[in-house]
Amino acid sequence: MNLDLTPADAAFRDEVRAFLDENLTPELAQAGKLTTSVFTDKAWNLAWQKVLYKKGWVAPNWPLEYGGTGWTEMQKYIWTSECTRYGTPNLSPIGLRMCGPMLMKFGTKEQKDYYLPRMLAGEDYWCQGYSEPGAGSDLASLQLKAVSDGDDYVLNGTKIWTTHAHFANMMFCLVRTDASGKPQQGITFLLLDMKTPGIKVEPIITLAGEHEVNQVFFDDVRVPKKNRVGEENDGWTVAKYLLEFERGGAFAASLEAGIEKIREVAASERSGDGRRLIDDATFARKIAEAAIEVKAMEMTEHRVMAELAGGKNPGPASSMLKTRGTEMRQRLDEIAVETIAFYAGADQHDARMPGSNVDPIGPAEGMVFMPTYLNNRAASIYGGSNEVQRGIMAKLVLGL
Ligand SMILES: Cc1cc2nc3c(=O)[nH]c(=O)nc-3n(C[C@H](O)[C@H](O)[C@H](O)COP(=O)(O)OP(=O)(O)OC[C@H]3O[C@@H](n4cnc5c(N)ncnc54)[C@H](O)[C@@H]3O)c2cc1C
Repeated sequence: MNLDLTPADAAFRDEVRAFLDENLTPELAQAGKLTTSVFTDKAWNLAWQKVLYKKGWVAPNWPLEYGGTGWTEMQKYIWTSECTRYGTPNLSPIGLRMCGPMLMKFGTKEQKDYYLPRMLAGEDYWCQGYSEPGAGSDLASLQLKAVSDGDDYVLNGTKIWTTHAHFANMMFCLVRTDASGKPQQGITFLLLDMKTPGIKVEPIITLAGEHEVNQVFFDDVRVPKKNRVGEENDGWTVAKYLLEFERGGAFAASLEAGIEKIREVAASERSGDGRRLIDDATFARKIAEAAIEVKAMEMTEHRVMAELAGGKNPGPASSMLKTRGTEMRQRLDEIAVETIAFYAGADQHDARMPGSNVDPIGPAEGMVFMPTYLNNRAASIYGGSNEVQRGIMAKLVLGL
């Protein structure tokens, strides 16, 4: 496969670089560098979104008519790669990458006209209410009850692992409107305002010590029926379509950037005696092997990208990219933690405080390796566990 850029693509890359040079302030770059999961803190991801909104580059994956960029698949890939290389903050994917494309296909005209521009401008901040304590992989067994009452549904129950629910003012949500037939048949898809009376958000603190996920409780919460997407009891069709967008995405660029960070830290002196981990042959081989696998991942992404160029949605290929991408990410995290060795346990934030007697390791990136490792343990679970993705591929791709 020839990955050389055409002159037009090279010119586009230069335009992107000039834009990033000019607009990615040191504060924004720092926020990007210190991000230890898929989610940058709300204040910073919205600050970056504002910059992109002004330029018209918030949603490269959206069609032009809804405010997308009209870029080719290659241009989108260049954009993602350059943003990763520069370490920009991550925009929250829940509205722009998941809810947006779903609304374009299933939303009413009124819903599209209202929500899509607000999503682009960052006026609404979304969370995803799919999982429940007894419904994760087996999502169709969800129980959050919605009873019809005039123009509203009345909701009682709970959602769990809801990322950034404490920041969000909007949730898209799966509810049970009928429990009589097959589990998939009684599910309805709703959009709801997180300020509605009866909603309570409780934090779940992760192993990395961060507040990113929550449990959300619903106690007689009234949601207007005009906020339903699709037909009553037909939410499963909508839910599955949206998941394809959650699972897809480009991993290779961020994996490559990850390898560069590891190399940088491993090239720093650790003990003052001139020894560097990068000079250790066994370690160097580990990095080289990972780099080869990332290259293979990049080729796979280009192959899928060529198929998407015709305007298709990702389909089961998203399961393959998700599985391979998250496994590679976790492999790199293990190498990264090895790079900082026993300093993985020390608080590197403290190490960088004036007067600290803890010796910081190499460049500042070193201090995010351990929380990133811990957060990314979840990468093979969220968005549908990798075991479940393998089941999907076996069925839909291999026909087993
Ligand atoms: C950090 C994080 C953020 C999240 N954010 C959100 C969010 O914003 N919104 C939301 O709705 N959800 C969110 N989730 C939930 C996530 O989608 C679920 O955790 C996931 O679907 C797995 O469900 P579960 O946790 O109930 O595990 P289970 O479904 O109980 O799975 C337990 C184990 O059994 C395996 N297993 C289950 N079924 C099968 C099968 N059929 N074949 C083979 N193996 C199987 C699984 O792979 C797993 O190893 C998040 C989760 C995490 C960890």
